[in-house]
Amino acid sequence: MVKDFEKKLAKYADLIVHIGLNIQPGQRLAIGGKNLSRGAPLASAPLVRKVAESAYKAGARYVNVLWDDDQLHLIRIANAPKDSLDEFPTWRTETLYEYAKNGDPIFTIFAENPDLYAGQDPDIVNRLQHTMERNLKRSTDLLMKDAYPWTLVSVPSEGWANRVFPDLPAEERMDALWDIIFKLVRCDLDDPVAAWKDHVAMLTKSSDWLNAKAFDALHYTGPGTDLTLGLPKGHVWKSAQSQVNGDGTTFMPNLPTEEVFSMPDNRRAEGKVRATLPLNYGGSLIEDFEVVFKDGKIVEHHAKKGEATLRGILETDEGARRLGEVALVPNSSPISQSGRLFYNTLYDENASCHIALGRAYQFSMEGGTTMSTEEFAEHGGNYSLVHIDFMIGSDTLDIDGIEADGKVTPIMRQGEWAFEA
Ligand code: ZN
Ligand code: ZN
Repeated sequence: MVKDFEKKLAKYADLIVHIGLNIQPGQRLAIGGKNLSRGAPLASAPLVRKVAESAYKAGARYVNVLWDDDQLHLIRIANAPKDSLDEFPTWRTETLYEYAKNGDPIFTIFAENPDLYAGQDPDIVNRLQHTMERNLKRSTDLLMKDAYPWTLVSVPSEGWANRVFPDLPAEERMDALWDIIFKLVRCDLDDPVAAWKDHVAMLTKSSDWLNAKAFDALHYTGPGTDLTLGLPKGHVWKSAQSQVNGDGTTFMPNLPTEEVFSMPDNRRAEGKVRATLPLNYGGSLIEDFEVVFKDGKIVEHHAKKGEATLRGILETDEGARRLGEVALVPNSSPISQSGRLFYNTLYDENASCHIALGRAYQFSMEGGTTMSTEEFAEHGGNYSLVHIDFMIGSDTLDIDGIEADGKVTPIMRQGEWAFEA
């Protein structure tokens, strides 16, 4: 049993409603699965009910929940005709797009079993993933511009708990995962909302320092890594909090969040980088992989496991071979210190410095949200149907900031901040 489960769950829900989504009276709330591509997992029902209750108390007009079940996706792969992989429930995308366009908050939950698609044909899984991404394009366009408030969280599911805690007796794993999640989202504290406000203020200090420096490039060195990333003029470092259309209404896209991030110039990445954690891409794991960049583009890739899945990602479109995000996370972050690998990008990316293949957030560029896709591209902004974070941080990673005149300033040493913000 998790101690004070109901109390902590209610705190988690309040945190999501007040800090995550920052729901305003009269708004409608849509609840679905990760990236809007799916519904909320059935395992998340206890949290979804609490969030609905908290949202109505905050003045929400209507809470619209879209449900889903991982097992149904497996049943489909095993039984549906092979020429049906482009079928997609368009009512789901229409609903989410209508909320997003209206600026209504969207709450998404990720609780996928990292091994869900183990043993399935990676080509079929990739095609399903591409179908999803094509259908979500209109909502993703709005998300990349901060046009509506959204928050992504995770809740334990059995498959996920089995993966994170194989060392515990089966009946203790779900509770152990709940315990650690409550701790990492600070819901074991008396006042999680106050704790998050303090945390956001700290992260903002680091992003302010990086913005004042306006580096021209970053240089990464570590085992298997020697990578230079160009940063475009006008790039903006952000942390934790976002604003809807920059209008001052804040929201927190990820809970937890420990990162400070911006966008690289998609034409200026040189060298090689080795991933330091496995990557879970839609239920398939890619492990022990490295990629080589030339002129911003991946020209070589190797993976000990999940090579076909990695290739599938890179073949999505031209932009999937280039970078859209660069994020810094000190190795001492509470998630990293938990010593657990989560096989869940929301948690693992907040344990480690990472970069993302694919699309850049337009708000990572000064004036970016009002630029057309073409203008954004001229500034080095990357476009793709995908945005996939992978982890490159460790306690052996060093990062230097390089100014336009060549001056070098340490940003991280051995995985920790090397400056006083
Ligand atoms: Zn990130
Ligand atoms: Zn990302």
